[in-house]
Amino acid sequence: MVALDGPSGTGKTTVARKLAERLSAGFLDTGAMYRVVTLAGLRAGIDMTDAGAVTAIARDAVFTIGTTPVRPSVTLAGEDVSAEIRGPEVNDAVSPVSAVPAVRELLVARQRKIIDGVLAEVGGIVVDGRDIGTVVAPDAPLKVFLTASPEVRAARRSAQDTAAGRESTPAEALASVDRRDRLDSSRAASPLRAAEDAVHLDTSDLGIEQVLVALTELASRRGLLHCAAEVTQ
Ligand code: C5P
Repeated sequence: MVALDGPSGTGKTTVARKLAERLSAGFLDTGAMYRVVTLAGLRAGIDMTDAGAVTAIARDAVFTIGTTPVRPSVTLAGEDVSAEIRGPEVNDAVSPVSAVPAVRELLVARQRKIIDGVLAEVGGIVVDGRDIGTVVAPDAPLKVFLTASPEVRAARRSAQDTAAGRESTPAEALASVDRRDRLDSSRAASPLRAAEDAVHLDTSDLGIEQVLVALTELASRRGLLHCAAEVTQ
């Protein structure tokens, strides 16, 4: 298992997905789980500052998270919401939702179950988030903490928004990314931070392929390259 943590805009999710493909492993985007719960709350019209109401949504919402790296789908009540969970409404509301300890408890339990299932079935998994190496899977054999300068992260987020048909200037993206990082790093429950034994990788000046080469090399050194193949043979 590979745990990939770090702030938004470091390329974590893209890199995690591609690394999983390369390792023939499964993939879990834990951010998508906090996002889909947030979307469910917004759709239900609840008071998003009411921790009890948000927790009830996290408990009762019917959602699925795909673990196939090629086309990981996210559904809410049977509807594909993969694009909608990346929209500005969810971006703005997700950090307070993920700061509610009971929401984290529910989602972390679900994440551990998914990870165990994929490890048993496929033999390997790459998981990306904020607390994977510290809380969700502290025994992961490889933990990587990705970073990048605020400007680079904002430019990446802005490019992603544009590709998804939502216009945002780098300045707007920077404000959004900054705000989320501040909230994620300062919350009491499982704040964003690197595990003590995580490898730090600054991706500011690296393209995706270069990041992938570095991660594949790290995985190879930890003997994680062939685990998936062995189990599926
Ligand atoms: O990774 P992504 O940007 O999609 O995550 C969306 C939000 O979900 C983060 O800003 C953070 O508030 C929350 N999150 C979290 N713990 C995780 C993954 C995401 O709190 N493991």
